[in-house]
Amino acid sequence: MTQHITLREVGLRDGLQIVKTIVPTQAKMEWIREEYSAGVKEIEVCSFVPAKLIPQFADSTEIVADSLRIRGLTVSALIPNMKGAQRGVELGVHKLNYVMSVSEGHNLANVRRTVAESLEDFSNIVAMLREVPAGSRPKLSGGLSTSFGCTIEGRVSEDRVVELAERLVESGADEIVIADTVGYGGPHAVRRVFERVLARVGSVPVFAHFHDTRGLGLANAVGALDAGVRYFDATLAGLGGCPHAPGATGNVVIEDLAFLCETMGYATGIDIGKLVAVRHILARELPNEKLSGAIAVAGLPREFPKAAASA
Ligand code: ZN
Repeated sequence: MTQHITLREVGLRDGLQIVKTIVPTQAKMEWIREEYSAGVKEIEVCSFVPAKLIPQFADSTEIVADSLRIRGLTVSALIPNMKGAQRGVELGVHKLNYVMSVSEGHNLANVRRTVAESLEDFSNIVAMLREVPAGSRPKLSGGLSTSFGCTIEGRVSEDRVVELAERLVESGADEIVIADTVGYGGPHAVRRVFERVLARVGSVPVFAHFHDTRGLGLANAVGALDAGVRYFDATLAGLGGCPHAPGATGNVVIEDLAFLCETMGYATGIDIGKLVAVRHILARELPNEKLSGAIAVAGLPREFPKAAASA
């Protein structure tokens, strides 16, 4: 039987958070709608950070409300803390994506807390969510940034990644995200870490989140697939980047990742041609951003749909 791979679009958050041009709300909704109709069933639509920190997310309330009208779409949002979690509950998002870093230095820089404080914050969010009636309670994802290295601290311990993933699940995470935030990972390390994490917390979905900063995004995705990962974050046209690596490419390109999965015999449920077409919105709204991706340039192989179906 063909195994299914879930690809989650995170470009409206991970991509837009570093883009200076403010994308109009209507264009963001056009992006969300078109991508959903191309077969992407979960989209991280925004981040609940104060608008004065990242003006790009000033329209979060409207974006969430409009996204929730798309029947069948899982609407998720990034939360840095309890305040973000409470806002997510108020607005009725389906999933809250909590983020913390494995390395102390990155966690302090990103969310201004120690790792221990972030774990405590996470437990408090779980307790808060338990008070929300089951029917309107969002799922809670626990994300671990800098899992394969850190621009501030360098090497990150694999034991520590596994330990923190376990701690988050024990605390009540419904899902885990292991992220190579800065593009330090390679396919062997990726395979090793995900095999270990899946062995310990495989009872919940484990997402892989890769950046293509050093060109290894898709290679790392193969490492994760081989380890048994079936959930991935990615962005349209690879939108995104890294404030510490100017000019670097962004997240893994979702169109190319869908192609990779299909060539390996997995089903993504995505119409890749339709997905590529959504790039017209980015080209129009962000004329100064670099749009990455190979399928958008070369097109799908002629025999592709047949080959994928028989794989
Ligand atoms: Zn990222």
